[in-house]
Amino acid sequence: MKYEWLLFDLDDTLLNFSVSEHFALTQALAKVGIDFQATHLEIYERINRKCWDDFEAGILPQSAINHTRFSRFLIAMNLQKENPTEFGNYYLEQLSEKAVYMKGADTLLEEQYGKYKLGIVTNGLKQVQRPKLRKNNLAHYFNIIVVSDEIGVSKPNTSFFDHAFREMNFPDKEKVLIIGDSLNSDIRGGHNYGIDTCWYNFKKKQNTINLKPTFEIDDLNQLKSLNII
Ligand SMILES: [Mg+2]
Repeated sequence: MKYEWLLFDLDDTLLNFSVSEHFALTQALAKVGIDFQATHLEIYERINRKCWDDFEAGILPQSAINHTRFSRFLIAMNLQKENPTEFGNYYLEQLSEKAVYMKGADTLLEEQYGKYKLGIVTNGLKQVQRPKLRKNNLAHYFNIIVVSDEIGVSKPNTSFFDHAFREMNFPDKEKVLIIGDSLNSDIRGGHNYGIDTCWYNFKKKQNTINLKPTFEIDDLNQLKSLNII
């Protein structure tokens, strides 16, 4: 066994984020009397993407994302009379209510638990990620859980990985593998930190960064079938 530690991203690596997002938006809209339609999700995703881009560009602080995206969304939906803070808080509350595993994730964790030390390294809000782990009975699999919002720094920053390594008690870097769907946070982050990376490219996208992940899979079962672990 080459690795001692497997670090997993959470959203769209172990749990399907789109399902949770769709559910939360449906619930939040229902609360203000609107029946969900697919176009609502498109509007939301466009606005949400722009807010995260602005955050990554340093234009918008992380603490302002939720309010900003929902004030813009409510205007786009012609629902200006609704309170974006209330709407946004309810959305976040609902975001941890429903989650489904990515294909093969539950079996993978069950099989590798006890063989490897397992960790979660996630960019997200503690008010969403912690309840999500708890409600899905996931936390017990993991030796460490690092949530960006709790430590004030996110992937791909090296200080995020410094924090994780401190919690892992400083293992050899060659004994650590990070597995995640995001080229920018998981693959760039892991690569820059000097650990092996596995890109879970389940959407079969083009690699748009000038880095080659150590491994690339489009199905979590390939971790075993390709002898990565
Ligand atoms: Mg992800």
